[in-house]
Amino acid sequence: MQAITNEQVRDALSNVLDPDLQQDLITLNMVENIQVEGKKVAFTVVLTTPACPMKEQIYNACKNAILHFVDKDAEVDITMTAQVRNQTSQQNNTLSKVKNIIAIASGKGGVGKSTVTANIAVALANLGAKVGIVDADIYGPSIPILFDVENEKPEVKEIDGKSYILPVENYGVKILSIGFFVQDTNQAIVWRGPMASKALQQLFFDAYWGELDYLLIDLPPGTGDIHLSLVSGFGLNGVVIVSTPQKVALADARKGIGMFRMPQINIPILGIIENMSYFTPAELPANKYYIFGKDGAKQLAEELAIPLLGEIPLVQSLRESCDIGRPAALQENTLLAKAFEQVAMKVAQQIVLLPSKKVEPITK
Ligand code: ADP
Repeated sequence: MQAITNEQVRDALSNVLDPDLQQDLITLNMVENIQVEGKKVAFTVVLTTPACPMKEQIYNACKNAILHFVDKDAEVDITMTAQVRNQTSQQNNTLSKVKNIIAIASGKGGVGKSTVTANIAVALANLGAKVGIVDADIYGPSIPILFDVENEKPEVKEIDGKSYILPVENYGVKILSIGFFVQDTNQAIVWRGPMASKALQQLFFDAYWGELDYLLIDLPPGTGDIHLSLVSGFGLNGVVIVSTPQKVALADARKGIGMFRMPQINIPILGIIENMSYFTPAELPANKYYIFGKDGAKQLAEELAIPLLGEIPLVQSLRESCDIGRPAALQENTLLAKAFEQVAMKVAQQIVLLPSKKVEPITK
């Protein structure tokens, strides 16, 4: 009987493709620490995100490759870990260890953008990612309420002779909000573009974020010139659009997408999340009522050739979880937590696909 070699293991794993990146795991440098002892084969697969929706599929493919190409009686022990790639252009500032910056936008207000942002952040943190949120919604900074930290004031700390704002942390997510720095929210609403963008710059560049896999920005609704100053200059990797299936919300979402695709802005659209897709009463969990219309975001996504990242139902308990500051994504094994986990994984997947992504100009 011939002993199994590391080379055989590498050769076998060079037959396993990352389904998203369409290259094999060896070429992608995703296999580490191969150890062989008799029939025991152990190695580590380093995924591009802990929120990888293909994790199980890749695990099974690796195991099968060893059994098929190396030895059908091998005992395969695979450790799955993740290392998120740094895809931002930030250097030599407080954001240099922030690997991906993603804006969450909506054309219309009240469609659940902040709710979705908070829950995606918690879902990503639950999956093992390091996550932060900048709440830039000057018209209604609600992230502090959603995370039950509205009465907290971020500390300022001296690090290497410079003062930094320390983000507030809850549920494993670091948070800074415009809301922490204004006495009442009306104060921020009257800010003009340059003032808002200056305040926002401080939340980015004067804050000590440390290492983050994903920094989410909860943008104000709409597409005014305030957004132009908010989205340029922060090295955004991509933007996620939130909309309800209602016609008026979709029309505004379309405008938002048009803005991000303007040549002078040109930020990749990672996809659209439909919120309040249907109503499900707690006492009739199998029933779906399409209050705001059906498949609206799906159709818009198809028409504009962008991914539909998920559909979140309108559920009373989701609204309640917002009001008490405990995001629904925290309650493991519930339908809502699973829905947000799926959406978070899709967002992380789209980020990984970005370098090969081509942004098509809007035609309508
Ligand atoms: P936006 O950030 O777009 O202004 P919010 O996230 O503040 O919207 O949500 C608006 C209101 O709708 C909040 O009261 C929130 O609790 C509620 N809400 C959002 N999404 C849902 C949902 N899927 N089911 C039930 N209530 C929701």
